[in-house]
Amino acid sequence: MKAVFVTEFGGVDKLRYEDLPAPVLGDGQALVRIHAIGVNFIDIYYRTGLYPAAPPVVLGMEAAGVVEKVAPGVTEVRPGDRVAWAMHRGTYAEYAAVPAWLLVQIPAELDFQSAAASMLQGMTAHYLTHSTWPLKPGETCLVHAAAGGTGRWVAAAARIRGARVIGTTSTPEKARIAREAGCDEVILYTEQDFEYETKKLTGGRGVDVVYDSVGADTWEKSLNCIRPRGMMVSFGNASGPVPPFQPLVLSQKGSLFLTRPTLMHYCATRDELLWRAGDVLRWVLEGRFRLLIDKVYRLADAAQAHLDLASRRTAGKLLLVP
Ligand code: NDP
Repeated sequence: MKAVFVTEFGGVDKLRYEDLPAPVLGDGQALVRIHAIGVNFIDIYYRTGLYPAAPPVVLGMEAAGVVEKVAPGVTEVRPGDRVAWAMHRGTYAEYAAVPAWLLVQIPAELDFQSAAASMLQGMTAHYLTHSTWPLKPGETCLVHAAAGGTGRWVAAAARIRGARVIGTTSTPEKARIAREAGCDEVILYTEQDFEYETKKLTGGRGVDVVYDSVGADTWEKSLNCIRPRGMMVSFGNASGPVPPFQPLVLSQKGSLFLTRPTLMHYCATRDELLWRAGDVLRWVLEGRFRLLIDKVYRLADAAQAHLDLASRRTAGKLLLVP
């Protein structure tokens, strides 16, 4: 089968689009023929080696397709089922062997591309707003990169929770996209001082929680935007990893809470996974979240998708098709 993988970490020149043996079905797994693949920033981290893995590393953490075979004893899915999943690496390929408990049935009304565009970023927004800091009506959150793939979902999920949403993004066109996704206010953090603007928008109090996927560039000022005993949720590194810091800083800034969560730990059981995926796919079906698929690339063009995502030129979701 064709797959995209790296044997050495680095730039997009290290991506190899070549034949690999089809995956062997392990205990508890299902073999899925892939129809659509989600592109996520985490794929870049695995390509560059920021997130460690032993080469060869087949990239990709999200996809949708049809079950072809299941291992003995698997009960969650059957051959012929249309399924989607996230959090199991190896989706930049024509086939994947996936732990069956991670697979979610795609509702009949949804196509493969919509399902692949929803799982990772949608469930991330779900856990951030429902579990990490369960937003309540009357609370205010700050969402960085709010026109991005994950950012649009976080803004929408926060709005669904009844919170006021302040978003940041880099261009006026992206600001329009962020507003349409659910932001009440948008700050152009490339032109405006987002700390100053956030304080102004909250009457000097600060927000209850910051959802920060940008990392290095926004870290310091984000801490200054949070009200005493609020939370800093640092969940990504699009601009680079957050530098080392002293916990004492959290006390000085108002006894803040800090967490660095990841989706896997918030879909720890099948029940939790089905709860989050069920909500997210329903939001899409009911039109409470409008999918924005920026571009669909051929699997062979994964390098271009990585370049586009890293260059801040995209809004919403990028997909690959094998
Ligand atoms: P996005 O579609 O959000 O793309 C990244 C966006 O980040 C850009 O469009 C850009 O928006 C913004 N950005 C700011 N500074 C930079 C920079 N220096 N280089 C590149 N982009 C920058 O990507 P994803 O939705 O795939 O991922 C966003 C982040 O969320 C990643 O860090 C990812 O790892 C994290 N994430 C974490 C999860 C978790 O569970 N911990 C799960 C899912 C995602 P703008 O132009 O508006 O500034």
